[in-house]
Amino acid sequence: MRYKITLIPGDGIGPEVTNSAVSCVEAVAERHNFTITWDKQYIGETAKRKFGNLMPYDTLKSIKRNKFPLKGPTATESGKGFRSMNVELRQRLDLYANLRPTKLFKGIESCYSKVDLVVGRENTEDLYAGIEFEEGKKDTLQLIDFIKSKTGKSIRSDSGITIKPISTFASKRIVKFAFDYAKDNKRKRVTAVHKANIMKFSDGLFLSAAEKVAKSYPSIAFDNMIVDSLCMQLVRKPDAFDILACPNLYGDILSDLCAGLVGGLGLAPSANIGDKCAVFEPVHGSAPKHAGKNDVNPSATILSAVLMLQHMGEHNASADLEMALLKVISERKVVTYDLKPNNPSKTTAMTKEIIRKVGMI
Ligand code: NAD
Repeated sequence: MRYKITLIPGDGIGPEVTNSAVSCVEAVAERHNFTITWDKQYIGETAKRKFGNLMPYDTLKSIKRNKFPLKGPTATESGKGFRSMNVELRQRLDLYANLRPTKLFKGIESCYSKVDLVVGRENTEDLYAGIEFEEGKKDTLQLIDFIKSKTGKSIRSDSGITIKPISTFASKRIVKFAFDYAKDNKRKRVTAVHKANIMKFSDGLFLSAAEKVAKSYPSIAFDNMIVDSLCMQLVRKPDAFDILACPNLYGDILSDLCAGLVGGLGLAPSANIGDKCAVFEPVHGSAPKHAGKNDVNPSATILSAVLMLQHMGEHNASADLEMALLKVISERKVVTYDLKPNNPSKTTAMTKEIIRKVGMI
């Protein structure tokens, strides 16, 4: 079998962690008799530098043709500059479900004995929809006047405004995704996450859409939690939760919280899944402080590649790669600084050790 996979190295530490994942995937591919040709493409800062375009047509074409790209993190400036190309990519390809599994692996120092959670995050709307009104602009002032005339509520004239659309369609779609994932992976419970007590027409709608979807899955338990209360409960007893179905913003924040429960961002993978294609990438960002130092943990990207291999139907290769990685982590000999602050190994050394373990399976 031959596959062509789009590879987006990304910015900052992206090229280092994707190089590592590519070598590991090639090692398991060889053992399982399939080959991969990588089609290297760019988005964001690197694409702008190389081609003067943040989202080149060739990148989108390659993803649509090859279907399941592996992507490194891409940088976005905070509070100014261009919009996040990650968000743009998810919207353009309608990658509506962001799957973020969190598991406590053997060998990781943690306050908990068991964590095995999955965040299913809606990926296309909410405050990430990109509908923003800048402070002081004519449109913003008109919107403020419109809101005053329709609701009687005053917004200060020096405000910036971000719109939070939550639709029944997208809410039902992500909750259905969470239940189907539960069914396919023998999981027992889905919790809908919201702040419906305050935002009745957006989060309230998400909650009622979730309740309707839940009725079609009588064998899977369903409940709901207010997001702030959930944060407290997650820190106290993360093993009480199974699958969290979330609107976009809560899902993003909660998945970083969950990564913190199990050893940090270096271990948190994700998949952005749509009906036509799926993009696999670590939860973490481009960590510019670490770029070029060969010191970050490649596991999040390797675990994203494990999800990619599963999605491709290469289940045995996926299981072998995960097993090899978990062995290296549990031994804690050749691991990066976040897993072993004293005498840490380099990214490339950890990668070589994982590949060596693949050879021993
Ligand atoms: P970050 O995730 O890049 O890094 C925060 C810190 O987490 C790092 O300084 C480092 O200490 C640690 N960390 C991250 N990845 C690690 C790894 N693999 N191994 C060990 N430690 C690791 O978050 P940030 O600094 O807030 O964001 C930097 C840039 O990344 C921003 O431009 C942001 O927009 C972007 N970003 C991109 C994505 C994406 O492409 N999907 C996701 C999040 C952030």
